[in-house]
Amino acid sequence: MIKKVDHIGIAVKSLENTLPFYTDVLNLPLLAIEVVDSQKVKVAFLQAGQTKIELLEPTSEESTIAKFIEKRGEGIHHVALGVDSIEERITEMKEKGIRMIDEQSRLGAGGAHIAFMHPKSASGVLYELCEKKGMKG
Ligand code: ZN
Repeated sequence: MIKKVDHIGIAVKSLENTLPFYTDVLNLPLLAIEVVDSQKVKVAFLQAGQTKIELLEPTSEESTIAKFIEKRGEGIHHVALGVDSIEERITEMKEKGIRMIDEQSRLGAGGAHIAFMHPKSASGVLYELCEKKGMKG
């Protein structure tokens, strides 16, 4: 059911300050920068082999990313698992007793359909299910 780790989400205070580490030190190609209003974040995607790194900068103090940084500082926020048929996967998770933050998928960066699992159901890890409908990668 899981195709691969699609991306790792990392909470940062400032894309501008963080990007040079990824582009100049690690030499990862920058794929896109996008504002996702629904989540009050600005995201940058970098290609790291088959997986991507998603840097998330809050655009508002109400952003869950802002609250995350306030509580825990910058760092790894979530791991995104690439799946097909995300609605079926959500149903399957719920049948297996997994608590979902998103009981239905919603649109994330890059037009992907995403749904977060509750970290209490996954030993403290925030997992995102992520489906790229009609998109490659
Ligand atoms: Zn993500």
